[in-house]
Amino acid sequence: MALQAGPATEQTTTTASPSEEPFILCDNLVKIYKVADLEAVALQGLDLQIQQGELMAIIGNSGSGKSTLLNILGGLDRPSAGRVIVGGRDLLKMSERQLVRYKREVVGFVWQQTARNMLPYLTALENVELPMIIAGRYGAKERRWARELLEVVGLANRMNHRLSEMSGGEQQRVAIAIGLANRPPLLLADEPTGSVDTRTAATIFDLFRQIRDQYGTTIVIVTHDPKVMSKVDRVVAIRDGKTSTETIRRVAIDMTDFAAGNIVLGETHDEFVVLDGAGRLQIPREYLEKLQIRKKVRLELEGDQIIIRPIPSEDADKSQQEAHHRRWGFR
Ligand code: ADP
Ligand code: MG
Repeated sequence: MALQAGPATEQTTTTASPSEEPFILCDNLVKIYKVADLEAVALQGLDLQIQQGELMAIIGNSGSGKSTLLNILGGLDRPSAGRVIVGGRDLLKMSERQLVRYKREVVGFVWQQTARNMLPYLTALENVELPMIIAGRYGAKERRWARELLEVVGLANRMNHRLSEMSGGEQQRVAIAIGLANRPPLLLADEPTGSVDTRTAATIFDLFRQIRDQYGTTIVIVTHDPKVMSKVDRVVAIRDGKTSTETIRRVAIDMTDFAAGNIVLGETHDEFVVLDGAGRLQIPREYLEKLQIRKKVRLELEGDQIIIRPIPSEDADKSQQEAHHRRWGFR
């Protein structure tokens, strides 16, 4: 697949126009964890924009910073530096009290470990009612809403079952209903299909789409399941705490068989390399390996293209030698 470089976020929209303020803005986000005397840099200058109503996924290897990013967006953790704005709120400038309200009203969370989402000895319905009770709202309207949510997630006839009697997939559906209980505009899901089989995973991804379409919820799913690609509008890959590439799904119309009366609707994926605020880009590792690129390349502007040329290894040695000579005044 050919990679296209560009500030791709500007081209991504599903429900909002590109000129609109993004719902989520992460600007040069840094998160450093200090453990004893060691520092772990979980996010190193991450830039990301997400539009309101977008259904997107963040993929990346274990340890790449996905959960760190999600926890920051959810107000569970604070960044070390950078800017993060959600729905016009600057998360770094919020007081503890504002943060509590933010967590209750603006974001819903779905975790991989179902135990973190709910109480096994309560029924599905009671579990969905709980966040509303905790938020101090509970009446006929809320009861109706809890039922509606359980219907939406496909558990209309399992509402009064205890969670301990439900399958992993059913529990994850309840978890999604719980995450939506306080009608948050933003739903964050960390590896929501990590504990279910492939087929169940596909139906859960479909459910996220249905919820976005029905309620306009902005949904960010963290996963290492590449199959998410065909289920969301956009996939952003993060590597070493920075966004590296993004892939946008488009519906393609195939007219090649038009004469025979067939118009085929399919999907294509456009993959882009993301530039950071300083114009840096990450070259995919497979390309680096294929062309044996190590420390340097040549960059050439040709017409409307920028060409990245590998330096043959002897050349690289020679140019290093030359630089050394220049530095020490040798000829
Ligand atoms: P992912 O969710 O992509 O697997 P994480 O965001 O959990 O990645 O972690 C990113 C990096 O930050 C890892 O190197 C991890 O060890 C480190 N890290 C995450 N949380 C903590 C923490 N609470 N204390 C120290 N290091 C952490
Ligand atoms: Mg994680």
